[in-house]
Amino acid sequence: MLEKIKDQVNPEKVIEEFEAVTKDAGRVQKETLRKILEENSDAEYLLKHGLDGRTDPESFKSCVPLVTHKDLESYIQRIADGDTSQVLTGKPITTISLSSGTTQGKPKFVPFNDELMDNTMQIYRTSFAYRNREFPLGNGKALQFVYGSKQILTKGGLAAGTATTNVFRHPRFKKDMKAIRSQCCSPDEVIFGPDFHQSSYCHLLCGLMYREEVQLVSSTFAHSIVHAFETFVQYWEELCANIRDGSLSSRITDPSIRSAMSKIIHPDPVKADLIYNRCSNLSNWYRLIPALFPNAKYILGIMTGSMLPYLKKLRHYAGELPLMSADYGASEGWIGANVNPKLPPELATFAVLPDIGYFEFIPLNKSIEEQEQDDESDFLRIEPKPVGLTEVKVGEEYEIIVTNFAGLYRYRLGDVVKVTGFHNSTPELQFICRRNLLLTVNIDKNTEKDLQLSVEAAQRLLADEKLELVDFTSHADLVSEPGHYVIFWEINGEASEEVLNECCNCLDQSFVDAGYVSSRKVKAIGPLELRVLKRGTFQKILDHYVSMGAAVSQFKTPRCVGAKNSQVLQILCSNVDRKCFSTAFG
Ligand code: AMP
Repeated sequence: MLEKIKDQVNPEKVIEEFEAVTKDAGRVQKETLRKILEENSDAEYLLKHGLDGRTDPESFKSCVPLVTHKDLESYIQRIADGDTSQVLTGKPITTISLSSGTTQGKPKFVPFNDELMDNTMQIYRTSFAYRNREFPLGNGKALQFVYGSKQILTKGGLAAGTATTNVFRHPRFKKDMKAIRSQCCSPDEVIFGPDFHQSSYCHLLCGLMYREEVQLVSSTFAHSIVHAFETFVQYWEELCANIRDGSLSSRITDPSIRSAMSKIIHPDPVKADLIYNRCSNLSNWYRLIPALFPNAKYILGIMTGSMLPYLKKLRHYAGELPLMSADYGASEGWIGANVNPKLPPELATFAVLPDIGYFEFIPLNKSIEEQEQDDESDFLRIEPKPVGLTEVKVGEEYEIIVTNFAGLYRYRLGDVVKVTGFHNSTPELQFICRRNLLLTVNIDKNTEKDLQLSVEAAQRLLADEKLELVDFTSHADLVSEPGHYVIFWEINGEASEEVLNECCNCLDQSFVDAGYVSSRKVKAIGPLELRVLKRGTFQKILDHYVSMGAAVSQFKTPRCVGAKNSQVLQILCSNVDRKCFSTAFG
């Protein structure tokens, strides 16, 4: 018993530590930068920029440039190819994370190391401590819809996987999660199973087996929770039957999952009847989650940003169970913890941890929409100078820049955040959007470049038929269920049905972002839709912009038309000649 208490995180102590570092955020930032630069003073990248062992913010900012992933790609590639010299860091990088988004159609590599693992657990502990004050968890289990993808080996033999997979596979992970009372109720074979559908089914089955012990229902992104309970609604009778006679559905074919599940599952007709009756009494599955898990205290997952559209469905399944929006970070590193757990997800903010990285902020004086509409500013825009963590202003929007312990220096993450207030002297950020993101339905993220590459690939099929693509744009349809990508094409000529279907499949398959491909495979994103427009539609769009005051010479077709841009969307939708849906993912 004593051992158990010793292994548990003491939430009050964690809060005390967080309060201390955030009271002195400016000094802690300087100290953090000093540590990062000292540890990596011999890294080729820092030497090349002439830092010469200096560790103060002024030298750092004057020597080291702001960069995007593209600028670091060749360094990271060398590491992935097996260069063990001090390329970006003092200690060699041994693991690679596959970040969302792509570079030239290939998944994006970023370095992962033990410090990033430490940061992950520090963030988890911090938000857990504040949540636990309001909604204490007992000694139970967590029903976590988590899926570890396979790690691949890079050319140089480094393990590469999504950042979550790297975290889940870390030797410390289980112990650390237990310490914050978030021990997953499913065996590893289910978490790391080769088939998402089988894993989802078994996560649900494990949750039901331990239903009285489940204290918490969670996932990384809220979309997975909604998806899992949609699976439940589809298979609930089969799940009940499995519990009744201690069998496992024949749809679970993976031998390692079957073997692991057989150790857990045993006949329990009383439990099966209870679950069956509870489900039978629900109206349209409202309050499903508390009906299944009577001791669950809350639901946890990232619910902000591109997850907001799923809140309605989540609330339907959750009833009065509180929704807790999880923390803010990226494969490139963590940023802030949700320390105001009582705020609804729509208002969730993230207090920056000043000791996990060095943060800078580029002020964005205009809203992103204004910037996109303002063509002239594209030519004249000079990025304003970044400001430090404690210099940001409440109400202002910024692009965030990260320097971390894993070899990223002044790295433009590409996210736009808004400062909503301060927690002591560290800012509380609201996530606004991805700066370059065009298409997103759930965990997928595709940029203008990705769209362009996909259109280019499909366009070749048109060219084979001597047909020409006049112009194109896109739209993420979030109204239909599940959401899907719509690509609008204007073609010079008459394409056969067969050619259009081929183009549509090619477009769908050419989006190689891991989030998109995995969502398509599990049908969390519907088939891509290709809509062929009547001739002259893009002219009408140009006319529309010109009538709004845009300069013809500088006009650029918007490559993605959001729901807010209703007039342009209306022009597009009312000029559709033909349409087809991809069959690429079956
Ligand atoms: P990835 O590169 O797959 O790790 O995705 C990281 C990106 O996901 C971030 O740069 C954000 O755009 C988004 N993201 C992460 N956490 C949150 C959050 N709490 N709210 C909204 N978006 C988030």
